[in-house]
Amino acid sequence: MKTHVRVLVIGGGVVGVSTLYHLTKKGWSDVALIERTELTAGSTWHAAGLLPLFNMSYTVGQLHKYSVDLYKRLPAETGQDVSFHVSGNLRLATCRERMDEYQKYCGTANTIGVPFEVIGARRVKELWPLLEVGGSAETPAIIGALYHPDDGHIAPADLTMALRKGARAGGAEIYEHTEARTIERTAGGEWRVHTSQGEITAQHLVLATGNYARQTGRLLGLDVPAVPVEHQYIVYDESPELKAYRQGGGRELAVLRESDKSYYLREERMGWILGPYEHGAPARFADGVPDWFGRSLFPGDLDRLVPHVEAATRRVPALEHCGLKDIVNGPISYTPDGSPLIGPAWGVRNVWLNEGHSFGITAAGGAGWQLAEWIVEGEPGIDMLAVDPRRFGAYTSKRYVVKKNEETYREVFTIHFPDEERPAGRPAKTSPVYDKLSARGAVWGQRYGWERANWFAPPGVERRDQWSFRRSNYFAHVGNEVRLMREQVGVIDLTPFTKHEVTGPGAEAWLDQLVANKVPTRIGRLALSHALTARGGIRSEFTITKIAEQHFYVVSAGAAERYDGDYLVKALPPDGSVGLRNITNTRGCFVVAGPESRAVLAQLTDTALDNVAFPWLTAQTIEAALAVDVYALRVNFVGSLGWELHFPIEYAHGLFDALFAAGAAHGIGMVGMRAMESLRMEKSYRMWGSDMTPDYTPFEASLERFVRMKKADFIGRQALERQQAAGVPNRFVTLEVHGVTDADPLGNEPLFDKGGRMIGRATSGYYGHHLKKSLAIGYVKADYAEVGTPLGIEILGERKPATVVHESPYDPENLKLKA
Ligand SMILES: Cc1cc2nc3c(=O)[nH]c(=O)nc-3n(C[C@H](O)[C@H](O)[C@H](O)COP(=O)(O)OP(=O)(O)OC[C@H]3O[C@@H](n4cnc5c(N)ncnc54)[C@H](O)[C@@H]3O)c2cc1C
Repeated sequence: MKTHVRVLVIGGGVVGVSTLYHLTKKGWSDVALIERTELTAGSTWHAAGLLPLFNMSYTVGQLHKYSVDLYKRLPAETGQDVSFHVSGNLRLATCRERMDEYQKYCGTANTIGVPFEVIGARRVKELWPLLEVGGSAETPAIIGALYHPDDGHIAPADLTMALRKGARAGGAEIYEHTEARTIERTAGGEWRVHTSQGEITAQHLVLATGNYARQTGRLLGLDVPAVPVEHQYIVYDESPELKAYRQGGGRELAVLRESDKSYYLREERMGWILGPYEHGAPARFADGVPDWFGRSLFPGDLDRLVPHVEAATRRVPALEHCGLKDIVNGPISYTPDGSPLIGPAWGVRNVWLNEGHSFGITAAGGAGWQLAEWIVEGEPGIDMLAVDPRRFGAYTSKRYVVKKNEETYREVFTIHFPDEERPAGRPAKTSPVYDKLSARGAVWGQRYGWERANWFAPPGVERRDQWSFRRSNYFAHVGNEVRLMREQVGVIDLTPFTKHEVTGPGAEAWLDQLVANKVPTRIGRLALSHALTARGGIRSEFTITKIAEQHFYVVSAGAAERYDGDYLVKALPPDGSVGLRNITNTRGCFVVAGPESRAVLAQLTDTALDNVAFPWLTAQTIEAALAVDVYALRVNFVGSLGWELHFPIEYAHGLFDALFAAGAAHGIGMVGMRAMESLRMEKSYRMWGSDMTPDYTPFEASLERFVRMKKADFIGRQALERQQAAGVPNRFVTLEVHGVTDADPLGNEPLFDKGGRMIGRATSGYYGHHLKKSLAIGYVKADYAEVGTPLGIEILGERKPATVVHESPYDPENLKLKA
């Protein structure tokens, strides 16, 4: 065994081996993998081998697409067959909402180039003659289906062996029966791994340990939010009907998914494999995998399977004539949102996770591809925010993860509405005024463990969402909140914001080289600033306020606490000249905005709030009601006159009551996250994570006004220079969408030119309640960005006309903000 390597991968399942393979493809041959027993001994050996291209996530969809393409060419490259059956994949729909889900997915699929067909019941029957089209209460009629002709199933062990051959050909070493037992950091900053076969030191560590993710993480002090859940499938004996069909010349049947009954069915040696996602499947190994488990399986639980078996037998009566050969019940790794953890670990350098894979056979190719890119190049080639391990935070306690993962597992096949808010693991984190907001009718959602009010149900209105891809029960109430903000005064509780304090003699210069904008030099000034990747993409957005000499207050998205915090910590200079403190939980934040906001706030403070004393884009530390040390920032994300009040958290109740007492005569009211979405869309404000991602530079995002090319160097600047010289390929646009009566754009819709050619994608969309217009924002090829350009946008399968309009259709000159 080598004693030193550049990268050591721990874990020899399909994901670890794929990572190794892709590292060699990037030209790194001094890489090795250790596996505690034998390759594929974890979940890989017993996986059903399905490769569904379907995924609602823009990022995961791209990873799956890459995998499927790779697996098709691997046999030729490595000489190892992988038994890829390109049988296709058929997902049935028996209700309109399911069809809406498929149509929403199709938008994403179009933007990433995944081939698919939306088909009717007759074509379903042609493709799958053994299936009942249905029409009874028990077996509802199929109203349509989504068909992927290009995917199918594969032999997971063969796939792993092909990747192993490829990795070995590229110089990688693989050591089986070698378990990582402890890990320590060397004085030189490398990682020394003590294994069952001796020591091995590596510059980079990749953890790809599947069901062991939590215990491997603990070796490095990481609480990895991946806990497996039991997952089973039934293997049936030969089916006489299937045999007759195939011997009569019928082609292999597509993998069938009846999503509304939560199961999949595929051919297996003239019989079937039936895999349900059942209710009641328990999480396992939250405290680690016991020694006895090894390569074993759990006993099958027929009771859990029965409802799905019955539903499948009604749909495919041939199942009735097949004996049951086996039940496979194995652990399948899960995370609280169902997407894997691919990318840097937090708090430790050069440690990378490729964990939490529940569709790991499908994802392995793409996950290895992007992680290798990240390790070798310093950043991934595509936007990986949706799978970045730092999208979760310290709130992922064991109980939270167990509850969430069980929920995510049982909801795999439920309709993924864009406005769904699942109940498990809630409430976890709440703002101090949670009860006060509940008393005002809050209908809650959750993000990054925080409860956030999505909207407020007026008295007498049921506090419940009817989730939908279309305008729903809360539409009018959200509209009223928008009008309140535009016409009177509204309050949004944005306590979850991520907040950092940056201090010290080196603070200003350090921040300045991290972001593209000029860091404010005068006390009381603030600047919207973007931290870029080396390739010039937008990685973070910070509002940086200079509070005092050598003291900056840095605010970013609530969901970016660990993502931004980890970045900042790792970027700190070693000389101690900069102090960094995460103060997210010590300050609350209320947005107070609307034309009457000045009159309301003036009753709480002696600080002059007029335009001369307190102009737009400035900040002051004020007293407000009984609260002291309140950072009042004259900015907001809604585009009305207003302030963000960032106060010491202990004043939350008093300040809230004082605001509402002072605002009563002005009609003050609460405003939720959905109204904020509408308000920001009317101002073309880009949202971190959807409209601002590493996929686009600030030039493409039309954020030139926040980029100072002439200042001292900053990360990403050279890439921006290159882009300036070569021409900016995409441009940010705001679109007014015409003819919408029901389904507004929500993001990830493809955009077309007049000739029907796809020329971009919407990254967000919503109904602008004040403007009474359906709006979208997104990116198009540069030639299509001119105001007035007619485009098409596909919403739930319907092509709607849209026009490029001026940025910020509401108050383009910011007169209201400066009022
Ligand atoms: C019943 C069932 C059916 C499934 N069907 C499908 C499917 O059809 N399609 C699909 O895409 N996915 C499917 N999956 C999921 C799929 O099996 C997993 O996502 C995938 O195998 C994960 O691969 P992995 O490499 O991450 O983990 P694993 O295959 O579990 O590999 C992790 C490896 O790490 C090793 N290891 C752990 N700790 C250490 C250590 N300290 N030192 C050294 N080695 C260590 C383990 O021994 C193990 O071999 C299914 C899962 C189950 C349970």
